[in-house]
Amino acid sequence: MTPLETLIRAEIAATGPMPLERYMALCLGHPEHGYYMARPAIGAAGDFTTAPETSQMFGEILGASLAHAWQQMGSPDSIRLIELGPGRATLMRDILRVFRLVPGLAAATDIHLVETSPRLRKAQAYRLKEDGHEPAWHDRIDTVPDGPTLIVANEFFDALPIRQAVMRGGQWRTVCIGIDVDALVFVDGDPVPETALPAGLIEADDGAIIETAPLAREIAATIGARLANAAGFALAIDYGYREPAHGDSLQALRGKRFADPLVRPGEADLTAHVDFQAIAEAARAAGAAVHGPITQGSYLTALGIGLRAERLRAAGANAEDLTLALERLTGAGGMGTLFKVLALTTPGLPAPPPF
Ligand code: SAH
Repeated sequence: MTPLETLIRAEIAATGPMPLERYMALCLGHPEHGYYMARPAIGAAGDFTTAPETSQMFGEILGASLAHAWQQMGSPDSIRLIELGPGRATLMRDILRVFRLVPGLAAATDIHLVETSPRLRKAQAYRLKEDGHEPAWHDRIDTVPDGPTLIVANEFFDALPIRQAVMRGGQWRTVCIGIDVDALVFVDGDPVPETALPAGLIEADDGAIIETAPLAREIAATIGARLANAAGFALAIDYGYREPAHGDSLQALRGKRFADPLVRPGEADLTAHVDFQAIAEAARAAGAAVHGPITQGSYLTALGIGLRAERLRAAGANAEDLTLALERLTGAGGMGTLFKVLALTTPGLPAPPPF
């Protein structure tokens, strides 16, 4: 049994079945035994490989997109570049390499990293200091000073805890974790009021599941309010869906394989599909303009990832590696259609290309 499972069992024994949201928050973010605290394994050798870890082209295209947005804002001489969940800081390094090519931009940029894992903060510090950058770290986006902003979040929203409700005999109930002899199991918890659920999904068959992500909505609202107060542009990239639907998208990954989310808690990465409509609605309600989402494949292709690959090949990069990376980032068999890109801007700014 993992140390975290011992703690989870004790909490269930004391207070009853544990809502999935609490279970996921502990598995990922427990200060000592949470996945991102103890063993984050991002990259080729780890539990999962993200787009920036696949190829520098991903971060370069995003960097160009952010640099263009800065120009559209009138090239302010001070801008906060915020990344949510920067992982190994690979994306940030690729973005900053592009920023150094744009006169005035690198000097105007303050880097703010929103990261809860002390271990990943160390890795980020090490890798960014190599390039001479001095970022500031935050536990939450709320503490980043006001002012013009560029925000990027890649595979961040999928790591935030979700709630699930299950339809049982005409009543929605909170999906919880309980104990059955010696295993953790899913059990039905308290009734969920229908007002807490998306109206279009309330009529459903027995066993249907509705997922909601209160923390994702709250962060989207904070971003929206920031963009309503000062010029700004945000890009969120994640795997997910555009229209709300029933279904269970909770998944656990360990060593690049799907695992049981209730076995050895704290040792696997837990994620859920991102509800882009919910994020867009929360940001719009807080005052931001919403663009997209569009698929990652169409976003990267429209902004010239093919041309970038040509340039890298001409400069000596391995042609086969480039083809594989392009296929993975933009192809339907890779991340091209499953992953979506959502842009948020201050109302009144031109729509960012290619939206
Ligand atoms: N963006 C990176 C890493 C994605 S993994 C990439 O694309 O490679 C998710 C990242 O979000 C990790 O850095 C993790 O520590 C961080 N994270 C997870 N939950 C968080 C939270 N609630 N607040 C801040 N950071 C969080």
